[in-house]
Amino acid sequence: MAHPGTPQPQTVIPRGPHAAPPVLPEAHVPGADPLVLSGTVGPARADKLDTAFRKAREALAGRRIIDVNSTMNGGGVAEMLHRLQRYSRGAGLDARWFTMRGDPAFFALTKQLHHFLHGVNASGPPLDRAGTEHYAAVCEVNARALLRAIRPGDVVTLHDPQAAGLVAHLRLAGARVVWRCHIGTDHPNPYTDRAWAFLQPWLDMADAFVFSREQYVPGWLAGRGVAVIRPSIDPLSAKNRPLAPSAAAAILRRVGLRAPADGHDGPAIYRRGDGSVGRVRRNPTSLYSASPPPADAPLIVQVSRWDPLKDMASVLTSFAEADGSLDGAHLALVGPDVTGVTDDPEGGQVFAECVALWQRLPDRVRTRVHLACLPMADSEENAVIVNALQCSAAVVTQKSLAEGFGLTVTEAMWKGRAVVASAVGGIRDQIEHGVHGILLDDPRDSVSFAAHTSRLVGDHGLAGALGAGARRRVQENFLDDRQLLQQTSLYRKVARL
Ligand code: UDP
Repeated sequence: MAHPGTPQPQTVIPRGPHAAPPVLPEAHVPGADPLVLSGTVGPARADKLDTAFRKAREALAGRRIIDVNSTMNGGGVAEMLHRLQRYSRGAGLDARWFTMRGDPAFFALTKQLHHFLHGVNASGPPLDRAGTEHYAAVCEVNARALLRAIRPGDVVTLHDPQAAGLVAHLRLAGARVVWRCHIGTDHPNPYTDRAWAFLQPWLDMADAFVFSREQYVPGWLAGRGVAVIRPSIDPLSAKNRPLAPSAAAAILRRVGLRAPADGHDGPAIYRRGDGSVGRVRRNPTSLYSASPPPADAPLIVQVSRWDPLKDMASVLTSFAEADGSLDGAHLALVGPDVTGVTDDPEGGQVFAECVALWQRLPDRVRTRVHLACLPMADSEENAVIVNALQCSAAVVTQKSLAEGFGLTVTEAMWKGRAVVASAVGGIRDQIEHGVHGILLDDPRDSVSFAAHTSRLVGDHGLAGALGAGARRRVQENFLDDRQLLQQTSLYRKVARL
């Protein structure tokens, strides 16, 4: 089955000083009492969280907690905001979440900033005067729309380079403003310098800054209010809730990523967040696969946005070039529908490159490689497909060239999977090599990558031990209660300013 991708939609924003500001899309995330986490994190941690939310409610009475980013679907920031909003609202905070609008030129420029902050060159638009003016104009239109929803004293967290241009507008309107940066590199270089030269003037008025790693904090923020908050996952979300092997297999069969074991298809059903029964109904929006992987074939899985820094193409070529040791295994490279992530203009191109490589594979390899773009229309359906893939994988890979944190790694570790991942960025905070997974020192070393992967496919004892270590690591460090504690403490500090 092979369906060509569809073109990217263009988001049009009204221009000019007299144009009416657009209404920004607002996510209406249903609240959930954070005490539901108690079954997973235990009563002592749940109590601590309860106390933190009580103090936050007192400190923030009458104020709103607002997040602003640039997409509601696809990528780690959207993933986290869904749950942080959910638990904050459930705990009685007045939490809101808006997404910015922009045109393709705006998102091309902010994607260029994203690559530069990761310390990587890219062929995007220059950060020149015309770019700055366009960035300013788009941010101004968004700020005017946002200001209709904001009151003095509200605490607003602006995420990543897209929203940096809103800082001054919101501060001048009396809001407390936090800028949270989810990307970075341990090794500043001329590209990071260029990104900071562009961003610094926009950020200067922020009250506080949040980074995912200490190493990402730029030198010019010395002495300013900086917090380091590592991301986390929700063990109760559709993506991370336990899924019985039979349920996972049924879901993968439904989306064409597993062949039936015995000729019968069980129902592809799952429990939705509201308690109702959901059914996976949608097909991948693109699927390149000669036929589904046999039910008993070991599956190697990488789930990522179609971004050059996730290096999906090289996962494919190193699988193809492995020296025969991966012959019984299948590889699934899976990402979101390339039209579904509005702030990521490169998705279509990266996916097309992978498809071109897939088409050129020799038959004996192509039949074992599967490329899928998952539907984004229903975020829980998307999430449960990712869950089924991750928990059915013999090995999960994340061969990123740069990574802010890498939630896909956390998600796989939580499912007790053996992970092979590059030793870059936040992945290094998650995995100690040989204890919680395998770290690839040089992310471009495709030979070692294939060797580690095939070793884990063949050695169930080692894969099981690493998976068990991984699960413990996430249980202790990377579940949402820890991030919510840090976040509520930051809100209280900022509200006192
Ligand atoms: N993701 C998803 N559906 C997809 C592909 C990715 O839900 O088709 C999710 C993935 O499970 C993870 C997030 O997107 O929660 C990616 O976050 P990560 O921190 O790994 O990388 P980012 O995209 O933020 O660079």
